[in-house]
Amino acid sequence: MKYPDVTNYINGTEQEANGTALLDVYDPSLGEIISRVPLSSAQEVDAAARAAKAAFPGWSGTPIKDRVQVFYRYKTQLERHLPELASLITEENGKLHSEAVAEIERAIEVVEFAASLPQIIPGEILEVGRGVECRLDRLPLGVVASITPFNFPNMVPHWTLPNAIALGNCFILKPSELVPLSANRIAELLAEAGLPKGVFNVVHGGREAVEAICDHPDIAAISFVGSTRTAKAVYRRGTSQLKRVLALGGAKNHLIVMPDADREMAASNIVASMSGCAGQRCMAASVMVAVSRVDHVVERMLEVARQLVPGRSLGPVISAQAKDRIEGYIAEAEAAGAKLLLDGRGAVVPGKEGGYYLGPTILDHVTPDMRIAQEEVFGPVLVIVRVKDVDEAIAVENRSPYGNAASVYTESGGIARQVVSKAHAGMVGVNVGVPVPREPFSFGGWNESKFGTGDITGRGCLELWSKTRKTTIKWNREAGTNWMS
Ligand code: NAD
Repeated sequence: MKYPDVTNYINGTEQEANGTALLDVYDPSLGEIISRVPLSSAQEVDAAARAAKAAFPGWSGTPIKDRVQVFYRYKTQLERHLPELASLITEENGKLHSEAVAEIERAIEVVEFAASLPQIIPGEILEVGRGVECRLDRLPLGVVASITPFNFPNMVPHWTLPNAIALGNCFILKPSELVPLSANRIAELLAEAGLPKGVFNVVHGGREAVEAICDHPDIAAISFVGSTRTAKAVYRRGTSQLKRVLALGGAKNHLIVMPDADREMAASNIVASMSGCAGQRCMAASVMVAVSRVDHVVERMLEVARQLVPGRSLGPVISAQAKDRIEGYIAEAEAAGAKLLLDGRGAVVPGKEGGYYLGPTILDHVTPDMRIAQEEVFGPVLVIVRVKDVDEAIAVENRSPYGNAASVYTESGGIARQVVSKAHAGMVGVNVGVPVPREPFSFGGWNESKFGTGDITGRGCLELWSKTRKTTIKWNREAGTNWMS
């Protein structure tokens, strides 16, 4: 095996999980085992929570301007180690090196935001009555935890850890058991940047560890990113223990294409959106809603998609099970009458025959009631639903229970405005295939794509990771006597 067994990272040291099962970790591009990860139990979660709780008084008592110095140094560490970190992502997740680099660049943007928090969150103070002032301070919660998915082993942990830690919390990361390697490297780099022991901890595992996090009395808040099914389970379990929970779920993103769309831009953007990271992005284009006559765009999309070469410009999907699931969706849709314009099944990469590859796949004349049009496929698959006008297109988009992203391709400001205001999605794009709101804007969807209040990045995360203290102060007699006395 290329890497030794993964260990938990608790209180600044690597710690083996006691007597727990080990799960094989695969390189999806080869289909080969590269390491093993412990499936930790409540015992390991408790050890991490105790370490984080012990570190909290020192860390929260450090002024924020000093706390963020760690993240200035950490940003430099991420930049210095970028090629190595990207290679690690590629090994455990399969995505292309260029995609892994882009993921870390996005992580760095969140670190920059966290480093700027002293500029963003100074408290408020106001004289509210003669001689009486009110003052608002933002305080950390204590021990908090983040549970993350497989598709961004480095970026999604960084959606939360820099902000939560810079705000003064101590942190437990529970990464996806499919991609555990990046998390421990993050821990090492944070330590090298000067983060004190116990402030950042990693507990590996699956459902058992997640449930222990939801139940642990010393963990005050949880963020979750993953499928809607698990998001609902974590949200229900965490809030039943009276914790703050923000749980981001899956997606089914609709891109509405109007006949006046810029052909080249729409075609290249849509193919990039559906195939980037092998379609395993919560912001990926999943349904193209083709309004009236847009065959010129579809033809160009096919030309662009045919240029994608699995193993070179398209990575594998995460696992053999994921590949089977995606191929099952394609077969079912074809049997139900969809027209397969491009079939990515059976892709083989010379020298990587065991890899979980699937070429780009485009199905036309899909109806909104087909399973492939409703459920998250999470692979390099795009379905085309044909409609007569923009009202019908919006109605198709609105029927989806998800609400992560939506986009419209048009040259008309009026149509763009109509789609932006009517789409049921938290992140909407105009002529943008992946409408990610970059820092300082907050990231988060609606409906079945997000449970809880606030967003996961940007200013939207402040209410998740902190609480406010409101102090009312009177220093002299001129305040007089009134109802506040
Ligand atoms: P997943 O739900 O299978 O796993 C996510 C996390 O939950 C992992 O850490 C996993 O160990 C844990 N987990 C899995 N099953 C569990 C259970 N039954 N009980 C408790 N914990 C459990 O998701 P995934 O397959 O790793 O990631 C892909 C999904 O994540 C897609 O649905 C994608 O859309 C979504 N995602 C959403 C966003 C967003 O911003 N909304 C971002 C990235 C990924």
